[in-house]
Amino acid sequence: MGEPFDTPLAVVGAGAAGLMTAIHAGRGGLRGVVALDGARTLGAKILVAGGGRCNVTHQAVDERDYAGSTPASIRRVLARFSVEDCVAFFEALGVALKVEDTGKLFPVSDRARTVLEALLGAAASAGVSIRHPCRVETIEPMPQGGFMLGGAWGRLHAARLALCTGGCSLPRSGSDGAGLAMARSLGHTVTERVVPSLVPLLLAEGFWLRQLSGVAVPAELRVLGPGGKRLVRFRNAVLFTHFGLSGPAALDISRHWTLHHALDAEVRLQLALLPDMDEAACSRWLLEGTGRGVLARLREHLPERLARAVLEASGVEMEATPQRIDRDRRRELVRHLVGLDLPVTGDRGFTHAETTAGGVPLREVHLETMESRIRPGLHLAGEILDVDGRIGGFNFQWAWASGFIAGSAVAEAECRA
Ligand SMILES: Cc1cc2nc3c(=O)[nH]c(=O)nc-3n(C[C@H](O)[C@H](O)[C@H](O)COP(=O)(O)OP(=O)(O)OC[C@H]3O[C@@H](n4cnc5c(N)ncnc54)[C@H](O)[C@@H]3O)c2cc1C
Repeated sequence: MGEPFDTPLAVVGAGAAGLMTAIHAGRGGLRGVVALDGARTLGAKILVAGGGRCNVTHQAVDERDYAGSTPASIRRVLARFSVEDCVAFFEALGVALKVEDTGKLFPVSDRARTVLEALLGAAASAGVSIRHPCRVETIEPMPQGGFMLGGAWGRLHAARLALCTGGCSLPRSGSDGAGLAMARSLGHTVTERVVPSLVPLLLAEGFWLRQLSGVAVPAELRVLGPGGKRLVRFRNAVLFTHFGLSGPAALDISRHWTLHHALDAEVRLQLALLPDMDEAACSRWLLEGTGRGVLARLREHLPERLARAVLEASGVEMEATPQRIDRDRRRELVRHLVGLDLPVTGDRGFTHAETTAGGVPLREVHLETMESRIRPGLHLAGEILDVDGRIGGFNFQWAWASGFIAGSAVAEAECRA
């Protein structure tokens, strides 16, 4: 006989995925669930999410909103906890959600704290004990079963373990990648590359777009492979900043640029300010503008500051009529409008990233339980897995869905045993 366990389930990390796991394990009838978090303040990411309003989910979520592990495996997880389930879950906790024009769902209160307090309340009602700050430093699988967790706070012997430590984004919140090292030490692999996702991009020092800090426009960003093959594109607002690019389109494309560029240095990021036109259509459109200067023509689509900067960067006189611009200059102007290669020098790193691209591959977990295929008794949920969503509430939906599955499965397995 081995020693009795201190807890049937230790959840490491009490963020979105960890709280969801613990709540559903408790609701499933499991007594004595413990969630440990290294942070002094719980739920830092929930509180900062969505500019302090917490974009809880999106009205339409499917596997195409994510990258990382295979779409089929992501779909299977999402199918178990739908957007309707998410809305009903929060509604039952007294948090009504509203849909905004963008399709994003926020609490009616417009306060992220409402979401965090509801989750903490649900955890307490489900009998979960949340201990913090208790950073888990070591995890040892025990020969007689279970896992021994240790840290400056002491030791805890758990029958099962849920690793919900997040990835590497916003390390000051407590998610600094330590969980990935723990997953490795327990026998898992981690994708070869773990990079910031939903992160602003840096443009070369002195590049003209950096002078336009604060200007935001609807545009298209594309990652182009060798030979100009379009690998991925996002059409949404782009915000120019003093360091480079931000805004939803830039954040969404960031992980794609980084990963493709890491594989092939010829990969380019291209900006289309007028994405509905190709070069020929743009040239025609310019020439159709009669009787007015080219600046006025550009201002039909672009804010004045940007229009002026585009003309300056392409060497075109502000007051020139489009017909008077020589062919080479016009070609240059068209290039600036419909397909400008950007000198990206990197990204702002995990400190400024909303999520992590890379992590433990989904093929290493049973999708119906989120239990490890490698280490029985270990479950994984949330950002630690190799799944990252685009901007819009998709990352939380992933955390809720994978946490729901893990917690429900642990309760079912342990209560049956
Ligand atoms: C600024 C910002 C804004 C965002 N806005 C949104 C949004 O509006 N909508 C959306 O869908 N997504 C948003 N995201 C992404 C979203 O917050 C994450 O995808 C989500 O929080 C991941 O949940 P998680 O529980 O897996 O990880 P985390 O939220 O990172 O939680 C992991 C927890 O584990 C703890 N931990 C880590 N290591 C240890 C250890 N060794 N011992 C004990 N505890 C440990 C950490 O302290 C942390 O509390 C945002 C992210 C950021 C950074």
